[in-house]
Amino acid sequence: MKYKILKKEHLNNFINLLSQRQKVFAPVKKGEKHFVFEEVTSAAPISIKYIPTILPPKKFFMPQNETLLEYNTHEGQNMEAVVEIQDIVLFGVHTCDIAGIQYLNLVFTDRPKDLNYLLRKNSITIIGLECNDYCDEYASCNLMENALPNGGYDLFFTDLGDYFIVHVNTLAGDNIIEITRLFEEASHAQLDELDKLRANKRKIFKNEIDADITDIPALFEKGQQSKVWEDNGNRCLACGNCTNTCPTCYCFDVIDELNLDLKSGKRYRAWDSCQSEPFAKVAGGESFRKSRTQRQKHRFNRKFKFSVDKYSRYSCTGCGRCSRACMAKINLKETLTALVKEHK
Ligand code: SF4
Ligand code: SF4
Repeated sequence: MKYKILKKEHLNNFINLLSQRQKVFAPVKKGEKHFVFEEVTSAAPISIKYIPTILPPKKFFMPQNETLLEYNTHEGQNMEAVVEIQDIVLFGVHTCDIAGIQYLNLVFTDRPKDLNYLLRKNSITIIGLECNDYCDEYASCNLMENALPNGGYDLFFTDLGDYFIVHVNTLAGDNIIEITRLFEEASHAQLDELDKLRANKRKIFKNEIDADITDIPALFEKGQQSKVWEDNGNRCLACGNCTNTCPTCYCFDVIDELNLDLKSGKRYRAWDSCQSEPFAKVAGGESFRKSRTQRQKHRFNRKFKFSVDKYSRYSCTGCGRCSRACMAKINLKETLTALVKEHK
């Protein structure tokens, strides 16, 4: 394992050097308590301590609107596939969001492979940043085993006071170290400090509900007819905030848009939400999930059951965004706790 040190006094220079080579996006404070990934050219606007951004980094991997092809029939049938990519660096990605990207990678490399996603993913450099403390009461990253780093990044920064200790995980990460020339070797004493921080985190970060991650499949097996879904369904406004802000929700709609000349246009995809009624409508007007109760149950099953059945992996990272963003105050931890109580 290769560890380096970046003194805090060099952070500004580091971001500036990176931004001269490619666009750099980092967490920046917006208003009272919100954060967004925004383009930066210096360290000044970056929030080193932040709670999950309004939208997760998935917006860089699968944009909200993405052109897939353009066509023009002015002279014959011309159709061209479009892949919009640019080399970027994401700085300051938390472990829960890295887990979200790992899940999306799994989904989009599954057959049929999604070329647009995969090409874009290869052009994104990920620099992770450790959460030394809990974000807030909505997080359940410990339950979902995402409180500590588990790969999926090029470099990973941990704040240790006057300096960051940096894990170099890939060749791309190594190249950044070489090119910027701002990093020093980590000493044994500094590595010991990292161990101490992690040991302390293991004490602070506790399972956020009264269950273990291994209990969840049985919980969902038994909980399919639970009253919890109806309770959530009665309150849900079907706004789609929960799915839009979720780092692992990837459903999209494909839309054809014809220009006014009636001869050219484009096909694009746009984020969609299983919480909206038309989502499960099929030809003939039938809908598989007419009620909000059915749609709430579906959302939670997607996070805690279907993904496990298909990929042996939970698709909830514990980031807490769905609960933070829900106007009806439907809370993921409370939903899981209600399921636990029903089956105790
Ligand atoms: S954010 Fe809340 S109200 Fe909106 S769709 Fe999701 S659960 Fe329903
Ligand atoms: S379900 Fe909620 S807590 Fe889990 S990953 Fe999605 S937004 Fe985060």
